[in-house]
Amino acid sequence: MTERVPVIAGNWKMHRDHLEAIQLVQKLAYHLQEDDYEGQEVVVCPPFVALRSVQTLLQSDKLPIHLGAQNCHSEDEGAFTGEISATMLARLDVRYVVVGHSERRELFGETDEIVNAKVAAVQRHKMRPILCVGEVLDQREAGQAVDVVVSQLQGSLAGIRVADPEELVVAYEPVWAIGTGKTATPQDAQDMCAAIRTELASLYDEQTAAGIRIQYGGSVKPGNVRELMSQPDIDGALVGGASLSSEDFALIVGHR
Ligand code: PGA
Repeated sequence: MTERVPVIAGNWKMHRDHLEAIQLVQKLAYHLQEDDYEGQEVVVCPPFVALRSVQTLLQSDKLPIHLGAQNCHSEDEGAFTGEISATMLARLDVRYVVVGHSERRELFGETDEIVNAKVAAVQRHKMRPILCVGEVLDQREAGQAVDVVVSQLQGSLAGIRVADPEELVVAYEPVWAIGTGKTATPQDAQDMCAAIRTELASLYDEQTAAGIRIQYGGSVKPGNVRELMSQPDIDGALVGGASLSSEDFALIVGHR
């Protein structure tokens, strides 16, 4: 089987200004041991205005933490007041871009079509999308969870080529588990991640699907990360609330 290097990413959402961001990364680096970084990728996704200061810190202190962004626009430049392009992010050494987070889908009206164009923009600039998919509670209770996620994958990945499986990360985030303290059971999370991999195999091929990292996200904490990550199809975590505490995020990264 293809070796998949897990990705643990902290999605700070709209928290921390650029000064607080520096402090948070410094504290995180203090709590992390050298071997915590081995065999996995550690990513922080601060708000746009903090990217430059965090980039400078990561470079000057030679920290093996990667930079991520939480969103981008699909066009490279133009009259899009208030937007940030993938081109700009790439210039800041951003490696990962979260695309299609459920908060963007729900609160900012992002459709699969919009998400699809953003995935393409991220890839065009040689960064890696973290494509978020996940069902809401009503859909899970109605037994539609897999269908919803499969249709999000099909829509968001339409026409997207994956030459190297490392180029794409999928994050399964059941919407009812985000910021609620409710986590999917490790078995439910595993079942969905396996269904995602099956769909990726039909969109691409078995080998590519076997190499694509699939994260779980939704109330990941130091106390539940180990069991989630021990599932065969879960290759990392997308962490919201707990990534704002350097101690908790370091425990999540160092769970092994
Ligand atoms: P949470 O958020 O860990 O606070 O549930 C996860 C996310 O939204 O990515």
